[in-house]
Amino acid sequence: MAAERGLTVDMEGYQREMERHREISSAGGEPFQAAVITGLPETDDSAKYADAPIRARVFGWVTADGFVGEGKLAPGTETAVVLERTNFYGESGGQVGDCGVLRADDGSEFAVRRTRLFGHCVLHFGKMEKGSLTRAQTVTAEVDPSRFDTMRNHTATHLLNWALRKVLGGHVEQAGSVVEPERLRFDFTHGQAVTDEQLAQVERLVNQRILADEPVSALVLPLEQARRIPGVRAVFGEKYPDPVRVVCVGTTDPLRQAGEDTPVEFCGGTHLQRTAQAGFFKIVSEESVARGVRRITAVTGRGALEHLQRLDQAARAVAGALRVPVEEAPQRVAALLGEVRQLRKQSAAGALGGLEEALAAAHTVGGVKVIVCELPIESVEQMRSAVDQLRQKAAGPAAVLVGSRQGGKLTLVAGLSEDLVRSASLKATDWVKAAAGAVGGSGGGKATMAQAGGKDPDRLPQALQAAAEWVKTRLAGVGRR
Ligand SMILES: [Zn+2]
Repeated sequence: MAAERGLTVDMEGYQREMERHREISSAGGEPFQAAVITGLPETDDSAKYADAPIRARVFGWVTADGFVGEGKLAPGTETAVVLERTNFYGESGGQVGDCGVLRADDGSEFAVRRTRLFGHCVLHFGKMEKGSLTRAQTVTAEVDPSRFDTMRNHTATHLLNWALRKVLGGHVEQAGSVVEPERLRFDFTHGQAVTDEQLAQVERLVNQRILADEPVSALVLPLEQARRIPGVRAVFGEKYPDPVRVVCVGTTDPLRQAGEDTPVEFCGGTHLQRTAQAGFFKIVSEESVARGVRRITAVTGRGALEHLQRLDQAARAVAGALRVPVEEAPQRVAALLGEVRQLRKQSAAGALGGLEEALAAAHTVGGVKVIVCELPIESVEQMRSAVDQLRQKAAGPAAVLVGSRQGGKLTLVAGLSEDLVRSASLKATDWVKAAAGAVGGSGGGKATMAQAGGKDPDRLPQALQAAAEWVKTRLAGVGRR
């Protein structure tokens, strides 16, 4: 059995490392279509499960023309290096490929941005950052420490898979997963949203197994034998090699000791040695991704601490603004929202009362009801609706213009009844422009309904005065004709 190993943990460096990882993995895809290249040699990648740097010889590299086994890899070249053996994990089974560096003894450096598996060949995609490489040269292959975060997330994914079946039922099947240093994503079959209490229960179960510091073991077994392990999980439709690798939590002898509560999966990924190395598991979100398929995104270790610190900061900022302890913030927010709803209702009722008053104060000029008034409404939508209501209540030819100085601005909405527009050729646009123009504002709209705005709410009375005069002059003229 392998010696117990510690994982590199640098709490301070988390943000920096994740940023670097994002940068590395997003910088440049594949400079060529590796999938169509034939004749790639096999790589011995058995060292990928040991987390130490290894020494390996350069086999060659890949260009658009194919595999190159001679010459020199010039500085600045972007390519994919092939080693005789490697400790880099080539992207597969939902786990991202490693990034890191290949270092030669003469100081030359090839930065590995991502690692992919093509058949049995591991391709280290990246760039010759410093110096050069030749075939058969020996390099030290160093995997980026963000791999340890990936391992935490991968082992936690297996625990999550087990816990979901435990909490939601045996119908839950894995429908896909992505394991990265920053987070894990797990898709599974389930017909409805997972409730908050179910999510909390899943978190408790996963963390219980992390705190219990259980062993995580991996063994390679003939496929037939592996399929007989009680409770073994495999992804439906996936082709598994024979022999197959089995990863098991809680026992090192799944053939004899696995039971209903043993997370056992066919899996080629890199894992922790013990569950406690995951540190802490926290679900970030649960959502629907397709009919009958849900997705859980979660974090572990450094990512979980970072996530909780961010949530804690947000909660304390809210509580601080409300001047209550964090625990009381949700109640206080609910009470405030209730107050806001109440105030909105009152203000709407006040505005309706205003309409009745406005109607009572209407003048009749040349057989047309003229209503020009201020209403305590802020929203333009509500002002337009008030104009509509006044036009209807007037029950006949009507010219309505309402103004508001709510919300620190001046707003005017004018409406003319259709018969008035037809018979007197008046336009609401002209009217509202004349009123707003009197106080340096402007506006526009249709002949029956138009709106305008001005910067100075204190000049609303002047605007209304101008509006009243404009419409009376026009209507008096109409009467005389
Ligand atoms: Zn796995």
